[in-house]
Amino acid sequence: MKVISLAKVRDTIKDLVQKANFELQDDVVDVIKEMEKKEESPAGKEVIKQILENAKIAKCDKLGLCQDTGLAVFFVELGEDVELKKDDGLGSLRDAFFEGTRAGYEEGYLRKSVVEDPIRRKNTGDNTPAYIHWEVVPGDAFNVTFIAKGGGAENMSAIRMFAPAAGMEGVEDFVVETADKAGSNPCPPIIVGVGVGGNFEYSALLAKKALLRKPLGSHNSDSFYADMERRLLERINNLGIGPQGMGGRITALAVQVEAFPCHIASMPAAVNIQCHSHRVLSFSL
Ligand code: SF4
Repeated sequence: MKVISLAKVRDTIKDLVQKANFELQDDVVDVIKEMEKKEESPAGKEVIKQILENAKIAKCDKLGLCQDTGLAVFFVELGEDVELKKDDGLGSLRDAFFEGTRAGYEEGYLRKSVVEDPIRRKNTGDNTPAYIHWEVVPGDAFNVTFIAKGGGAENMSAIRMFAPAAGMEGVEDFVVETADKAGSNPCPPIIVGVGVGGNFEYSALLAKKALLRKPLGSHNSDSFYADMERRLLERINNLGIGPQGMGGRITALAVQVEAFPCHIASMPAAVNIQCHSHRVLSFSL
């Protein structure tokens, strides 16, 4: 049995949310630099230069990469052989995640972006609740991946329930149509997470999980879906939206697709759009 202290979880989360918001990870920077070389439009090139400069300043001065520091979304793999030690006044793992998020957003001067009710819109004031997806796994793993999800990109995401007859073409057209409709709203160049299969809610989760794949731009291990990713990236970059909608070749940095078994009568598909400010970071205890 591995014993993990809840205070340790809280403190690690506190540091994680800040580091993710201050430092664009190397794999993301590498893809952006690569795309800078490919961008043909002068305005688009200039935008990419500014994105890279912004990342340098944010890292150096410990400032948020963007004013929208996002909903705090966590994917947690919790081993069956992990024992959680309640300490420092923390009574549950959920408390540890919420406290860590609260403290990290406060200490890092990160914007609090959560309202307590979707209609009445009063800010909770501490960026909680965090959005946590738990998965119980065999063994003693404790793996956490954080993604800061800004509203501009999240708002442009979409889900559609297809009949199986729509086939691969139907799904691909839907992904391209979603990116096209999004235009400049999600601060391109974007990252496109696609979830195919599962059911209504599972496809949305798959699409978000697809965004977490590292290194950014790596392909699905199934060549069928890897080819789909390549085709979609090309089609989206042919839309001409360009960096920040200024026109150009580079509308997307990557398209990442995840698939899952589904009902014989259904073919759900979801597209979760992420902006260039791709703040994803993991830790294991
Ligand atoms: S979409 Fe991303 S880059 Fe644009 S404002 Fe939101 S978080 Fe910031």
